Amino acid sequence: MKREYTNVMEEIVVTWVQVLMTGVEYQTFCSCSKCKNDIITLSLNNLPNYYVTTEEGRKRVFESLNTEENRRWINKRIINTIHVVGQYPKHG
Ligand SMILES: [Zn+2]
Repeated sequence: MKREYTNVMEEIVVTWVQVLMTGVEYQTFCSCSKCKNDIITLSLNNLPNYYVTTEEGRKRVFESLNTEENRRWINKRIINTIHVVGQYPKHG
């Protein structure tokens, strides 16, 4: 069955984690797929869900989340999570 709902927050977090992990500031952190997935799931557990069922709804929610203030706090949560996972990676 095709999934007909999307968590807009998930799309944002996945994209930002990819972008942040390729940035100069985070070169010292492990960016293997295991750590990346841990960062994404931990961040999502600390952020509200924004599920939508239509493309129109997706755009509307994305726009409302894409303000400077929202970007700042979402970014802050993701960066905190990068540090937590970096400090306690689940691999050797
Ligand atoms: Zn790793």
